[in-house]
Amino acid sequence: MDLDKITVGCPLTELTYLKQMDTRTYSASTIRMVPDKGQHYYFILDKTIFHPKGGGQPSDIGILRGPDFEAKVKKAIEHNGVVAHWAKMTSGNPTLGSVECELNWAHRYVIMKRHSAAHLIDHCLSQTTGATVHTTDSWLGEESYVGYTGQPPRSTVLNSVKNLANQMICTGASITISYLSRENAATLENAPNYARLPDLEEIRTVQIGGCAPIPCGGTHVSNLSQIGQLSLLAAVRSSKQGFRLYFVIETP
Ligand SMILES: [Zn+2]
Repeated sequence: MDLDKITVGCPLTELTYLKQMDTRTYSASTIRMVPDKGQHYYFILDKTIFHPKGGGQPSDIGILRGPDFEAKVKKAIEHNGVVAHWAKMTSGNPTLGSVECELNWAHRYVIMKRHSAAHLIDHCLSQTTGATVHTTDSWLGEESYVGYTGQPPRSTVLNSVKNLANQMICTGASITISYLSRENAATLENAPNYARLPDLEEIRTVQIGGCAPIPCGGTHVSNLSQIGQLSLLAAVRSSKQGFRLYFVIETP
């Protein structure tokens, strides 16, 4: 797979999921198709609701339906601003032009809940320890975690973080997206991942209730209550300077 070749000359893909996080089906246009082994194709669309793997989020999965074909999207991959959808043909022959996109919503919805929970953990860890937290990375697939710099917190601290997070979930605060200029985003307090952002003119931020807005390109639920219940499993040292906080969410 040579993503340079597959995406060369394609216009940047419009990332519809950034503003329409609840959109499950969407009409787009296929602008390029590149065959791959075993009845797979790379589909490049003009716009997409499929969040590619990145920023800790696993790739969305789902279905592409053209006038005379159907393909199962197994992976969306971002390369230089172009999203390639790697999909296996399940019927017909692929064609350029109009295509209906359908997310596997059950898969996406769990990731959205975990992503909002990860931001909530940032906030609650900072509140509990009284210190700014610095995230290093995260993973929102199975065995979800957020990585932080510093020493792993004690179990009493973890317990307080969990209790505070679950209290906040009960309040049902809304989660909102806004766009800030780069200068304004640079002044955000507690922007744990600011240093890892791409150099864009406009920074997308996600804000939970009255908490500090956090720069983020991921998909989130619109209300904390959708998370259900948060459990913190363990804080595990991942390097000399950092640890991972593993968590699970359970929908009652
Ligand atoms: Zn995020």
